[in-house]
Amino acid sequence: MNKYNIILHTTTSCNFDCSYCDVVKDKKQLDSEKLEIFINFIKKNKEQINLVKFFWWEPLLAFKNIKYIIENTANIIWNKYELVTNTSLLNEEICDYLEKYFEIIFFSIDSENFFDYNNIFKLIDKYNLKNKVYFNLIISPWKEAEAYNQFEKIYSSWYKNFNILPVYFTKIWNKDDLSNLSSVMKNILDKSLLDKEINLFWFQKNTGYNSSLTYDALFIDIDYKIYYSDFVSTFLWKKIKDDLYIWNLDNFLIWDDLEDILLKKNNKLDLYEKSITSKIKWQIELHKIMDYFSKYLNIKKWILKD
Ligand code: SF4
Repeated sequence: MNKYNIILHTTTSCNFDCSYCDVVKDKKQLDSEKLEIFINFIKKNKEQINLVKFFWWEPLLAFKNIKYIIENTANIIWNKYELVTNTSLLNEEICDYLEKYFEIIFFSIDSENFFDYNNIFKLIDKYNLKNKVYFNLIISPWKEAEAYNQFEKIYSSWYKNFNILPVYFTKIWNKDDLSNLSSVMKNILDKSLLDKEINLFWFQKNTGYNSSLTYDALFIDIDYKIYYSDFVSTFLWKKIKDDLYIWNLDNFLIWDDLEDILLKKNNKLDLYEKSITSKIKWQIELHKIMDYFSKYLNIKKWILKD
């Protein structure tokens, strides 16, 4: 039986205002009176759910709802939760939950927003999060060197899990920035050749983990509707949102043939992605750079596996 990752949008607000951000921030929250709809969905489909991920915007702005969902589903899906957060709202209560219930947590850091290294490192240590936390290292144009400094600072404090994330689908890259990005990628990868414990990945097809299109997930939006892709969150893709709609969450059972349906839909999404990519200057080159370094990373992992 195929299993799916469920990505749940708990809010469409964010307390940051990153210059490269393309998500639609219309400041909605999951209707807490309808949370039972989601919980019933989990109960009905538990055999086919791999994990629940709280992702997009700043999920911790809706921590109360996340808590309620976890308290009512943890014994059904055995604590299989993931979170992506900008870290600004982390506190002891939240970290206690992360320690008890979460498998992987992505702490996103970039060069525009304040990242409280000391406080975050203290919380990671106090709540034994070291092996669960991946630092989402967001690289934006003009700030490539700073991203490498952030990597060094985190690595020198003995944290070794990194997801490298150049900002995609933006027109702000140029040739020089991409050349700087390549240098940063090479430096990070070379460093990881010297230390087997550095764990790197990024959302590109060759890594085998994921791609800029997420193939094995269902996206549940703030209105309790299910979509084929997380692209529905962004301005760039908003116009095809209706086309990516699957079903309302009430009474939805994951169909046996969903895998085939997703495959067909993903082929269609691939075409959308290709057409949008070709319209954004330097986007194809950005993908090529990340593909190149994905191959380099895979070869490195293969060489070092013994
Ligand atoms: S933290 Fe994420 S959602 Fe918030 S403004 Fe930055 S890119 Fe957008």
